[in-house]
Amino acid sequence: MSATPARKKINLRTPDVMSRVQAQVESHYRSETVERIRAQGGVMRQGSTVIRLAKEFGFCYGVERAIDLAYAARKVFPDSRISLLGEIIHNPDVNAQITAMGIRQLAAHPDDKDIATLTPEDVVLIPAFGAEVSTVEAVKARGCQIVDTTCGDVMSVWKRVRQNAAESVTSVIHGKAIHEETRATASRALGPDRQGQYLIVLDLAETDAVCEAIRQGCDKAVFLQHFQNAISPGFDPDIHLQRIGVANQTTMLRSETEEIQNRIRTAITERDGGSSANFRYFDTICGATQDRQDALFQLLDESLDLLLVVGGYNSSNTSHLVEIGEKTIPTWFVRNADCLVSGEEIRHFDLHRGEEILSAGWLPEKPSLTVGITAGASCPNNLIEDTIRRILELRGEQIDGEFRNAERELKA
Ligand code: SF4
Repeated sequence: MSATPARKKINLRTPDVMSRVQAQVESHYRSETVERIRAQGGVMRQGSTVIRLAKEFGFCYGVERAIDLAYAARKVFPDSRISLLGEIIHNPDVNAQITAMGIRQLAAHPDDKDIATLTPEDVVLIPAFGAEVSTVEAVKARGCQIVDTTCGDVMSVWKRVRQNAAESVTSVIHGKAIHEETRATASRALGPDRQGQYLIVLDLAETDAVCEAIRQGCDKAVFLQHFQNAISPGFDPDIHLQRIGVANQTTMLRSETEEIQNRIRTAITERDGGSSANFRYFDTICGATQDRQDALFQLLDESLDLLLVVGGYNSSNTSHLVEIGEKTIPTWFVRNADCLVSGEEIRHFDLHRGEEILSAGWLPEKPSLTVGITAGASCPNNLIEDTIRRILELRGEQIDGEFRNAERELKA
């Protein structure tokens, strides 16, 4: 099929559309209760139970914008088929709501068969994490109307890795190789001529393997086998570890990212006789991720009996909040209030086992209990409110009559 010219960009965010979008988004995700608790310093006492919210939690600016654009697309193209590349954000409740609005979900990296179903009449949404270059090009070639909700902070990382490619610097990306954002970033690290190189490291153990290869070389076959799903085509550790620029998925744990860049800088400096000319680093942890991590550290300074982290299990920034919490106090990673099965049992995601499990004895029967709550950047406030109400219910507390009735239904 011959390439179809790309469609003109349409401004979806007109005042009329946005005022209607705003009203609908608020009706789906807003919580007056949460706003009220925030307004009173983030603390609520109900009988013998104290709820303490982190100062920063929940929807970030990038997620709000992505959701606004998805809702706006539905309004501006009421009769068009709208397809989404993967998930708009990593929250199953929000994604279910998007599906309920008649937006169909394709794979984040659709295969040729799915791409072939697209026509110039289709509208295609790119999620907040962005999409791989090859996917965007394939969608454009079908002549679809593209609505790009990629967060500006993600695009800042792309700018850095493109610059690395232009200067023959290998991008070492701290991130999860299967995460949509990291895949999108890696595809930009190839540069326009696809000659650029990248290597994705997940953690400090992988970083140490890279540092050892930088210092004293490596068994190439073993190295390539280990990083087989995390390197650019043609990656050669003997050649492509000479000049390195460290970048990161925007939602990683800052302390880990800093340690990774420190270790790589040290390895290069030692190899190059004290010079760090072959190393570069740009801090690309996004402000929202940082704010939520900082606010959690602050919350953990309070006297808490337990911490609930609310959010999608595949959300990277939410997982890092859990990692921070569980170093200090009993921490439970829950998708929504339904996970609080009873005062005895809780359904929660175990990061170490990588699965949702049922545990017992999560809610201490203390005469006075303080529960800390935080949530990742993809978690709406209505889910926080539901969680608060469920805790109070399980504690046998009278719920303040002013609380909004948090019956959640998918609303068209
Ligand atoms: S978490 Fe950060 S990078 Fe991701 S959408 Fe929010 S602001 Fe953007």
